[in-house]
This record gives sequence, C-alpha cells and structure tokens, in this order.
Amino acid sequence: MQSVSSARFITPPLTQRKRELLEYLLNQFAASVNFCIQRCLEHGITSRASLHHIAYEEWKSKFDLATHWFHSTGQVATQTLRSWRKLCRQGRADPKRPPVYDARTMRLELWGEDNASGICRFHGKAIQIRIRRGEHLWLPLVVTEHHERMYLKDWREGRLNVGEITVSAFRDRANVFVPFKQEVEPKKIQGVCGIDINERSVDLTILKSNEQPKHITLDVSKLPAIRHSSQLKRKSIQKKLDAPPQRPVQKQRLKAKYWRRERNRTNQIIHIISKKIAEIADQERVAVAFEGIKGIRGSMRSKRKSENGKALRKDMRRRLNQWPFRKLQFYAEYKVARQGLPTVEVSSYRKSKLCPMCGQYNRPNGHAYGCKACGFEASRHLVASWNIAKDGARHVPADCWQMQPMAERLVAAEKPSVEPERIPLQFVTGF
Ligand SMILES: [Zn+2]
Repeated sequence: MQSVSSARFITPPLTQRKRELLEYLLNQFAASVNFCIQRCLEHGITSRASLHHIAYEEWKSKFDLATHWFHSTGQVATQTLRSWRKLCRQGRADPKRPPVYDARTMRLELWGEDNASGICRFHGKAIQIRIRRGEHLWLPLVVTEHHERMYLKDWREGRLNVGEITVSAFRDRANVFVPFKQEVEPKKIQGVCGIDINERSVDLTILKSNEQPKHITLDVSKLPAIRHSSQLKRKSIQKKLDAPPQRPVQKQRLKAKYWRRERNRTNQIIHIISKKIAEIADQERVAVAFEGIKGIRGSMRSKRKSENGKALRKDMRRRLNQWPFRKLQFYAEYKVARQGLPTVEVSSYRKSKLCPMCGQYNRPNGHAYGCKACGFEASRHLVASWNIAKDGARHVPADCWQMQPMAERLVAAEKPSVEPERIPLQFVTGF
C-alpha cells in the first residue's frame, strides 16, 4: 500500500539567467511533447518503447537536450494520447482534433540510483534539472517549517520517497510540486466506522462484531462561525471603502487579506478534524466509510423540496454550499490511508431515512428520527452514520478483515446505545 501526498514549494526570486533558462526549458518541453504526439499519431504508436524506436534519431537532431528529456516528454505524450483516446471513445473529444500540449508546466522524471534516465534530482533545499551533459539548472527552494516537519525529515531518514516533480514558472519565481510517497503497512481491520458530515457536527458510528455500536460526535460549529464572522468583516470593509474617496487598490488588498485569513482558519480546522478521524480509526482498527459526495452540492443547489415539503431556504442552501465537505473528506481519506487503513465510499441513497435496527423506511422529522415499526429513536445524523457504516462493511474488501467474514454480522446489532460520545476538539484559540 502506498500513500502519496504532494508538497508545493516555491523558489526565491530567480536571477535573469535562470528565468530565461527555465522559460527555454518550458518551451522545449512543450515542443518535445508535441513532437512525440505527432510521431505517435503518424505511426499509430501507443507505447514509449516503440516511440523511442521510431523517433529517437529525428528527435536527437531537433532538440539540443539530454536524451533523458525524450523519455520524460515521451511519457507525457503517450499519457496525454491515452486519455484523449479514452475521451474519444466516450464521445467527449473530437477524434479529428488531436491533443496539443500547451501547458506551461513540465513533469520531470526523477533521476536517481534506480533510474538513470530521469532528468530531475531532489536535494531537499534545491532541485537539479539536467539539461545537457555537464549542464544543469539548479532551482533553490524556500523551505518552511511545515515542509521540514511534514516531509523533509522523513525524506532524509528514508521513510518518504520522491516521485515525478512538476515545475512551472510563476512571475519571477518557479512553482515546484514534489510528490512524497510512503510505503505503509496495511493493517487488518476489526470493524467499520461510518462518517456523516453535517454542517455543525461530524458524526461517527463504529461497528465491530460482537460489540455494541459506538457513536461519536465531533463538534464543528466553529466552521460556520468563522464563515459568518468573516462575512460580516468583509461587508463592513466594503461599506467603509465604498464611501468616497475611491480606493480600489486598498479595497482589493483588504478583501484578499480577509479571504485568505478565512481560508487558512478553515483549513486548519479541517486538518484537526480529519486528524482526529484518522486517530479514532487507528485506535479502533476500523475501515472508514464516507458518503458518496458526488452530486451533494448539485442536489442542494436545485430548489428540491426538503423532507417536510418546504424548499431549502436560500440562505440554508448557501451555507451548505460553502461547507468544504469535499476537502474534509479528501484530507481524512489520505490521513486514514497513511495509517494503513482502507477507506470506502458508499452511496448516499436513503442513508438518513432507513432504520438501522429493522430496515424500515421512515421520514425523519427535523433532527429527530423515530422508527414507526420498532420504536427506535435517535438523531438523524447518528442514523445516517450508522447506515453508512453498515453499507461500508459490505464494500470493504474481504482480505482487509482480521477475521472474516464479519461484514454480515456487523449488520445485525442488538441493543444499541443511542447517546453519542462527544469529543471536544482542541482548536487553536484566538479566532
Ligand atoms: Zn426500526
């Protein structure tokens, strides 16, 4: 099992010479990819090996670069063509218009002991790009404390490996994306944790065989609060700066500042919540199941009638649209995967409407849920996370379980405790 997370670095402002060299390499990279795409199409080639066979001599006469550039650009070309062919088959691209590589980025294969054909080396505080024999472009990197803590320490000690590095120009600097790969030991699971993400709480239900379901609620009401207060802040700035004299530059700057602040605070909280989820999953040794998020925003944007027949109010729709669901799920997924535990995504169909005890379909009334058939009562968030866990148990591959088959046994829980355990989260204060 491998977990990958990408770090973004920037370089300090580059010298004129380095800037020109970078510009030249970006142009040559794009030209070389397009050359490879052309040759692949002309000869009906799909693999990098046959491309090398057919076009290497011509490439060598056209491009004054180390041979390794042919490998890197050939790979980008064959991958671009592969995804274009797929789109053509699905009717989403025009087969008469082959792709053109016009991105201002280059993806460089790593050059190391095990891969002599790469063109880029990662040195921690700089990257080295091979241009020709004996000629290199060194790009220094601005290394923050975060980079050091999250990636570089583990990289130096050999726990993280670097993948293909992506470089692009950015004003007078360069953007450098470095994927760090980690081999993680897959752990055997004892149960499943279903996660229901709501506006003010994240609800978890942990199902293990021969154990009562365990419910945990994480209070995230801090997030809408941040959103609300920074909206007010922005509004008041708008009002003040709208009065004469006109100060458009100042206004932009201030609005950007508060937007940035809101984003940073939100991200920080999302990191704390997702870390907590991963911690709980690791403690309990459970797989984590999320509700399929595809379409969740779409269904809120439409003026769909809510359960009790009223359309979702406009401000309610806006609030829900702004909740960074996807981000939380993404962070949690990768943190859980880094623990060596599986994650699954289940359909959101009727998750808060089916009774987890007897399977009866009931309409929840507000936040409360009551089953007409068996009398089970709980909050609807708890019901949703429980159903997600039950469904998730069926989706986790059989070889992940410590003892199997447990999936079916988890589904029929007996006497439930319906009061969730509330875990307070420690957020950094000051906002
Ligand atoms: Zn029931």
